[in-house]
Amino acid sequence: MKKNDLITVKIEDMGSEGEGIGKLDGFPFFIKDALIGDVVEARIIKLKKNYGYGRLTQVLTSSPYRVEPRCPLHRKCGGCQIQALSYEKQLEYKTQKIRNNLLRLGGFSLQFLDAHMEPVLGMEQPYHYRNKAQFPVGTDKEGNLITGFYAGRTHDIIPNTDCCLGAPENAGILEIILDFLKAYECPAYNEATGQGLVRHILLRKGFSTGQLMVCLVINGHDLPHREELVRRLREIPGMTSISLNVNEKNTNVIMGEKVIPLWGQPYIQDTIGGICYQISPLSFYQVNPAQTEVLYRTALEFAGLTGQETVWDLYCGIGTISLFLAQKARMVYGVEVVPQAIEDAWENAGLNGIRNVRFFTGKAEEVLPGFYKGKTGEVERKMQRGAEGSGMDIQMRHPDVIVVDPPRKGCDTQCLDTMIRMAPERIVYVSCDSATLARDLKYLVSGGEYEVVRVRGVDMFPGTVHVECVVKLSRKIKDS
Ligand code: SAH
Repeated sequence: MKKNDLITVKIEDMGSEGEGIGKLDGFPFFIKDALIGDVVEARIIKLKKNYGYGRLTQVLTSSPYRVEPRCPLHRKCGGCQIQALSYEKQLEYKTQKIRNNLLRLGGFSLQFLDAHMEPVLGMEQPYHYRNKAQFPVGTDKEGNLITGFYAGRTHDIIPNTDCCLGAPENAGILEIILDFLKAYECPAYNEATGQGLVRHILLRKGFSTGQLMVCLVINGHDLPHREELVRRLREIPGMTSISLNVNEKNTNVIMGEKVIPLWGQPYIQDTIGGICYQISPLSFYQVNPAQTEVLYRTALEFAGLTGQETVWDLYCGIGTISLFLAQKARMVYGVEVVPQAIEDAWENAGLNGIRNVRFFTGKAEEVLPGFYKGKTGEVERKMQRGAEGSGMDIQMRHPDVIVVDPPRKGCDTQCLDTMIRMAPERIVYVSCDSATLARDLKYLVSGGEYEVVRVRGVDMFPGTVHVECVVKLSRKIKDS
């Protein structure tokens, strides 16, 4: 067996990046785009000591789970890894992914997982779910201006204006912008030279309001003939906000800091679970609002709120979970490290007239211990003096529920330790990476105070290998 050999393998499993896994005489190969159930021919591209990589050359026998993907470019594009897998099987794959991580990295037994894990909650319509798209602008080999998507792991642009994950309006908007840029000979930005003007096209849609946003990211402060572009774009039904974003840096970061409004409002609006949000070009906002609501409803159900509870929402972003839970809690405290996100969180609370929330800027692993330890003395002093407000401090130190929704790297142990000391009745862990989730759950249950009672995945990104997961932990030692 050597590099460039052609091999035939039956795909019996799929890895965490969606690659098919098949064995040749017991030696495993990872083959991108091969699906579980396929028999494929592949060319060996890399051989390691205990495994190898192959490039799919031919599907010899098609998997029963293989479907005709909607996007003809799905194999080239870096966005979707498993679009050719039936949606039902995608959900099964995602349930399995969470399960494997909890088994291997979390130390939970199969029997335990069978009893506590529920299947991943999927979408009815797993296409056109994304409310945000960022299309890079460049030139093809002939020098024609193009827009589309980056090919997997590169910055080569594959021309495509009609991604089937995005809003159906995107294609029409992109055609108008491309026509305009070509007609007025506006040059595309070139990453290698730092020359050229137009870098990216950001499109957003408020699915619940139908409002559309266009923001052109440019390497400069002005777009020649911009009034003509505005004239063409504002004809599109739903168009609400048109702007420029200035990014003159030689960087992979798409957006710059400065937004120049061109027409309409500086933001669009959308709602998730009855809460309204204002979204500007620079705001963070969940990209799949329908499934975000499913995710938050699951978190709410696991939190078991009756209206009387004190809740911490750690890693709260723009406060979406905090505001959602505040509708059913006495008080919610959110913590987030990005100051701009906390500003948005306060604004969103005001916009919805929600008063029973407070937000704190800082790292969860610093803010939470700060409240738990640092404020202890203060609480006791206040209690001696019989000051009002001490009740609030006690409730902050001993909340009923703590919700966490950390980034992929999971929680800091300092944060987990403080959570355990605060002794809430329930901990709800919302995770976008089941590997770090498994690690943190293992840590949380290791002291014997908490047990995992429910585990449920939510599919926010159909067609891709990503999956969110919500876990409910309950306190075993009850206060007398
Ligand atoms: N709960 C939010 C956002 C979750 S994403 C929502 O549902 O929309 C994770 C968030 O954690 C990001 O906003 C990120 O800025 C923040 N974050 C990252 N590290 C952090 C830390 N150490 N402490 C607090 N927040 C952190």
